[in-house]
Amino acid sequence: MLDASIVAEMKRIVGGENVFTTLEERLCYGYDSTPEAFLPDLVVRPDEVGEIQQILKLANKHLIPVFPRGAGTGLSGGSLPVKGGIVLDLTRMDRILEIDEENLVAVVEPGVITQHLQEEVEKRGLFYPPDPASLKTSTLGGNVAECAGGPRAFKYGVTRDYVLGLEVVTPQGEIVRTGGKTVKSVTGYDLTRLYTGSEGTLGVITKIFLRLIPKPEAKKTLMAVYERLDDAANNVTMIIKKGIIPVTLELMDDRTIHCVEKHCKMGLPLDAEAILIIEVDGLKDLVEKQAAQIAELCRANGAREVKVAEDEKTRDEIWAARRAVSAAVVQIKPTKISEDVSVPRSQIPNMVRKLKEIASRYRLNLVIFGHAGDGNLHPNILCDKKDPEEMERVEKAIGELFQAAVELGGTLSGEHGIGIMKAPYLKLETGEAGYDVMLAIKKALDPNNILNPGKIFGSESNG
Ligand SMILES: Cc1cc2nc3c(=O)[nH]c(=O)nc-3n(C[C@H](O)[C@H](O)[C@H](O)COP(=O)(O)OP(=O)(O)OC[C@H]3O[C@@H](n4cnc5c(N)ncnc54)[C@H](O)[C@@H]3O)c2cc1C
Repeated sequence: MLDASIVAEMKRIVGGENVFTTLEERLCYGYDSTPEAFLPDLVVRPDEVGEIQQILKLANKHLIPVFPRGAGTGLSGGSLPVKGGIVLDLTRMDRILEIDEENLVAVVEPGVITQHLQEEVEKRGLFYPPDPASLKTSTLGGNVAECAGGPRAFKYGVTRDYVLGLEVVTPQGEIVRTGGKTVKSVTGYDLTRLYTGSEGTLGVITKIFLRLIPKPEAKKTLMAVYERLDDAANNVTMIIKKGIIPVTLELMDDRTIHCVEKHCKMGLPLDAEAILIIEVDGLKDLVEKQAAQIAELCRANGAREVKVAEDEKTRDEIWAARRAVSAAVVQIKPTKISEDVSVPRSQIPNMVRKLKEIASRYRLNLVIFGHAGDGNLHPNILCDKKDPEEMERVEKAIGELFQAAVELGGTLSGEHGIGIMKAPYLKLETGEAGYDVMLAIKKALDPNNILNPGKIFGSESNG
């Protein structure tokens, strides 16, 4: 437990009602969306940047670990208080400070819920594209810290493509400002990019400048059903070769289809090997033309059925199947290990085959879904963490899964980050030299290793 004088000082900084000390309160901040959990010594809920500066100065002086936290929807264990210490809950800082329609920029605090910003800008005919499936809950601070992606990343890119500038509090409690409202900025090192995706290990993000774009005029959604997974994967490439970049190109494999159908009874085809959900957006006439072209391409190349949503109700029905995946798959077994390897798009069939082979060899329940357009797959292993024998097989399978992704020219994580879950595998992709550069940055910016220790590098960030 922390010294009583530290707790008293924290209460002075943020007010007693914003410091949680009881076991019940602390338990609520010890978990995220991974199966892991740890107990913090203290939870502190600041409301403004000056308070965060004071908290970090105090923590740095007394060498107390601090774990920044948004909504706790992370899938790599990023916000977990693995060494006790202080959980820094940023959800009180939830103000949209400005929507600048002239410069197409939104300025927000880190605790703004992703969907809230999207709704506010859409009221003004503007668009903030990054759409992690957790957007109703996740915070923009968490999105920036993880460089979140989502189904629309294929056409519109990921969070980093919209971050123009940041205000960050360093582990020593100083304020760093990077970028701003300008589209261009090449003043020195690109610190905005460095902090984006840094998983709360280098600084606490307290203000974000986000690029907005005009809202597309129309969109259209299609669902294509395939008897062979390879046909689905090949169709993805064909659509792109035709010069069409859909907003989303989502893939669900046979086991995912079975899980969703069992859970939701939507009438999904249980004899299909894959489903693609495709959405196009843009000018109305172009959208109609592209949807018709895609439907034709799919039918001519192996899709046995193509459903084109002609109204909102059908569109919602199609997306309901994809949105139900997370809830449906956890009905199979109590523990869900959610990975997010990404491979070059052309390697999707090879990666899927490899994943299925690994799952069968280790006798594991595996479902595969994800963003086929950008090669970002979500193999989810459904298991029971209380079964040590099964978890041993899961561990071995995960190691092989990462190895396969890297061998196919891919990456360990397309969007969920490294956190604690992938830390043991980082060097597989970075190599020794790349790893050393990253660790040197961490050590230079946080020499006392107080900010989110144990993440990305595991225990090696110490000392
Ligand atoms: C059902 C479900 C669906 C998901 N779908 C997607 C998806 O489609 N795409 C995707 O990319 N991810 C997805 N995720 C993962 C998760 O939602 C994202 O990583 C999200 O960005 C995390 O936001 P959060 O506010 O919950 O952050 P948290 O989980 O609280 O924290 C995540 C990381 O950010 C750090 N952090 C948080 N706020 C700050 C801050 N202000 N300053 C510095 N560091 C900070 C934390 O220390 C931690 O390392 C999904 C998760 C779930 C549960």
